[in-house]
Amino acid sequence: MPVYTQELPIVAEAEVVVLGSGSAGSTAAIAAARTGADTLLVERYGFLGGTSTMVLDTFYGFYTPADQAARVVNGIPWEIVERLYAYGMVLERPSSYGAGQAVTYDPTTLKVVWEQTVGAAGARLLLHTFCVDVLKDGDRISGLVVASKQGLGLIMGRVFVDASGDADLVFKSGAPFEAAGTDGQPAQSLTTTFRLGGVNAERARAVKRDELVKRMKAANVSGEYRLPREEGSIHATPIADVVATNMTRVAYVDGTDPFELTKAEVEGRRQALEYTRFLREQIPGYEHSYLMNFSTQIGIRETRRIWGEYRLTREDVLSARQFEDAIAQCGAPIEDHHAGNNTRWEYVPDGGTYDIPYRVLLPQGVSNLVVAGRCLSADHDAHASVRSMGQCMAMGQAAGTAAALAVREDGTPHRLNVGKLQERLRMDGALFSGATAVAAAK
Ligand SMILES: Cc1cc2nc3c(=O)[nH]c(=O)nc-3n(C[C@H](O)[C@H](O)[C@H](O)COP(=O)(O)OP(=O)(O)OC[C@H]3O[C@@H](n4cnc5c(N)ncnc54)[C@H](O)[C@@H]3O)c2cc1C
Repeated sequence: MPVYTQELPIVAEAEVVVLGSGSAGSTAAIAAARTGADTLLVERYGFLGGTSTMVLDTFYGFYTPADQAARVVNGIPWEIVERLYAYGMVLERPSSYGAGQAVTYDPTTLKVVWEQTVGAAGARLLLHTFCVDVLKDGDRISGLVVASKQGLGLIMGRVFVDASGDADLVFKSGAPFEAAGTDGQPAQSLTTTFRLGGVNAERARAVKRDELVKRMKAANVSGEYRLPREEGSIHATPIADVVATNMTRVAYVDGTDPFELTKAEVEGRRQALEYTRFLREQIPGYEHSYLMNFSTQIGIRETRRIWGEYRLTREDVLSARQFEDAIAQCGAPIEDHHAGNNTRWEYVPDGGTYDIPYRVLLPQGVSNLVVAGRCLSADHDAHASVRSMGQCMAMGQAAGTAAALAVREDGTPHRLNVGKLQERLRMDGALFSGATAVAAAK
């Protein structure tokens, strides 16, 4: 145990402490508080949402990508979409890539929706607080060591949820994980997203995807532009003349290394400017567009994946496997943004779904910790399917519910009766075990 901890003040205490407020962590905090636990959500930035509000504007994973798209995620995640609808800030649209029906929202509104929903559930928030270490007591975490403008402090808790995206609590606890890029497949590349205003939507819409790709290739061949990804996407948003992009590509970066991330941030913005120039000069409808913003930070797809009680595999995805300890389901394809100029897609057969088992959220060797979101236990390819925000939220609902139920027992999510967890999740609208469709896509 680090010596400095003996001197540190306790800045907060809760029964369930959730680290990280991305789509997984915010949903986990809502679920834990609604299940009756005194819950604290801790976040390093000054707003909620993580990647969902600082990089992106489209939820995937709610729908299967089949022709007859079916919605396979419900519960708290869908409630978030309904709250966005109440603000008139959602646009459901067919995906131009085959990732399934897209749920595009306004990310600024989503920041408020997360705050309101977490607050109404009764969870407390602590923003501007970075977790740098953990306090251990045998195989349990007893507290988080956090840093803020006031210095170092401790947050004590009974059960912890690691929704940091990077498995920071698993890493700091000394529990096993696999770093992306160390299993023979390069880590997925990083992307700085950007939004353009002043777009003539009608003229821009007339340029179909094939034509856009053709023009990107031609631009590279001409030597006038350097566009690392030739099939990057642009889509409409709920705001009339604004489009959002997913075009830049920065490869071979360890998303947990600040030195590598520094270079990646600079390179991502450089590429974003180059794509903006290309669009303004080469694509009808963009002549008078202007750069509205870059993502708050570069988007990181994959870093540490924990070694859990079970590891979701590529075979599980491609055989649409069902599990007895299912807590959520997924029909999203394997979508691998490797270092090349295109993206690799592989689909769950027959537009079906596979289950996400509870055990992929349980890290080995730490008994009062459950994870949620993109740091789950999965191999590279399974991760490339299950990381969509629809599933991160569904995992968050399961992790938060499990943490709160565990508080009522011996504080050990690993020993929780899974049937009891599933019963509570079903009651709260979650979908799993089989391709349960609740709604056809609009
Ligand atoms: C470029 C890009 C494009 C993508 N496109 C899509 C898409 O279109 N649709 C889709 O559904 N999915 C998409 N994904 C995948 C999806 O966005 C992510 O897998 C998902 O958002 C991860 O959610 P999360 O909650 O697990 O982690 P994150 O969203 O990364 O949240 C982690 C949170 O924890 C906080 N945090 C981390 N460490 C600490 C710490 N030590 N102390 C305090 N706070 C901490 C962070 O600030 C953050 O708020 C994309 C991902 C990327 C990067």
